[in-house]
Amino acid sequence: MRLSESLVPTLKEIPAEAQIASHRLMLRAGLVRQMASGIYAWLPVGLRVLKKIEAIVREEQDACGAQEILMPTIQSADLWRESGRYEAYGKEMLRITDRHERELLYGPTNEEMITAIMRDAVKSYRELPQMLYHIQWKFRDEVRPRFGVLRGREFLMKDAYSFDLDFSAALISYKKMLLAYMRTFQRIGIVAIPMRADTGQIGGDLSHEFHVLAPTGESGVFYDAAFESGDAFSVPYTAAGLDEFYTACTTKYAATDEKHDVEAWAAVPEARRREGRGIEVGQIFYFGKKYSESMGFGVIGADGAKVFPEMGSYGIGVSRLVGAIIEARHDEAGIIWPDAIAPFKAAILNLRQGDEKTGAICERLHEALGADGLYDDRDERAGAKFAEADLLGHPWQVIVGPRGAANGVVELKRRATGERSEVSVEEALGRVLGG
Ligand code: ATP
Ligand code: MG
Repeated sequence: MRLSESLVPTLKEIPAEAQIASHRLMLRAGLVRQMASGIYAWLPVGLRVLKKIEAIVREEQDACGAQEILMPTIQSADLWRESGRYEAYGKEMLRITDRHERELLYGPTNEEMITAIMRDAVKSYRELPQMLYHIQWKFRDEVRPRFGVLRGREFLMKDAYSFDLDFSAALISYKKMLLAYMRTFQRIGIVAIPMRADTGQIGGDLSHEFHVLAPTGESGVFYDAAFESGDAFSVPYTAAGLDEFYTACTTKYAATDEKHDVEAWAAVPEARRREGRGIEVGQIFYFGKKYSESMGFGVIGADGAKVFPEMGSYGIGVSRLVGAIIEARHDEAGIIWPDAIAPFKAAILNLRQGDEKTGAICERLHEALGADGLYDDRDERAGAKFAEADLLGHPWQVIVGPRGAANGVVELKRRATGERSEVSVEEALGRVLGG
């Protein structure tokens, strides 16, 4: 992509309305613009990040055996009356009336809808277990939308739902999702700690929240330092693999302040106790028959009797993740993207626009990098290009100036460490594309 031809509306001034770093940086780097309170438009660079996160989330959902579907954003009020949540949900639900005076709502989550779909489609125990997910916009009329995309009103969520015949099968689905989440966050390039959590609106009795550590996080968190190292989550999705993983994960202490257990905490060796703040980027729930029973979704069991399936639901805040990652990874100069979800792997900085050799090398790099490269070909001072590349946070900067160009060398800068080295064009390409 050529910066001179792209919509990347960066800001020099610090936006006054933004209280925390990720919100400021997302506005300053031109990733998003607020269209109404808590409602954002995603501009080209921001959308690339959102799509990359979404792609990793999707691959890991597929890998754990969940099937992708797409449910609508608009739901009927009657569906929610069946579970009793239409009244219970309160003011966070955006209620809409259509021209025929039918009551609709913009979905804040999809337990009722997926249960209705399954009730219609599945009749026998032979058709279970099933796990389904979609990645769809949600709306919650938050009292106080704030911190940019971290607490928006319209936001993108991956939500999955599992249906099993009994508790032990439901627990396997729960473990699969927990593992899928750890793999997802590891691939994205962040540490997200699974914490015992309250079940809130969804109901039920087993739940974990996944928290990215950041001083600006809304939740107080207590955890064992062993979580910081980020284990290898490469165990397979077999019964043995899941048990090994689940035991390792849940025997280490980690809880949000709502679930904090002072006695269990005291048993953690003092040197390993960590207290901090976290941003919730995902939550998983096991809630049994709450929806299958209330909405009358039963299947014929092996013995001919009716069985209400055991359910779980599993959310990831895809758009919130963009803000959370920035909150965890930035410095004075700007964003520091993890490689896996960076909008571009590298920026190519042309320090002498108009110089023939410099331009030729930049063009060659741009062509070789393809969609992974952002070519800063603007008629701007070198200082402005450096600042913009640091702000946008590309993992690599390939800096091309007339002196190096005459000798066929460029400067390669790693954003995270600031490390710079002079290398040939080929080596620069190898390192950017290889690592
Ligand atoms: P919170 O406690 O932050 O309000 P929640 O517990 O109500 O979130 P869940 O119902 O667990 O949210 O939804 C799943 C995920 O969706 C959350 O873990 C979070 O990452 C994301 N999410 C929830 N509300 C918002 C929001 N207002 N803006 C952006 N993302 C959100
Ligand atoms: Mg939650």
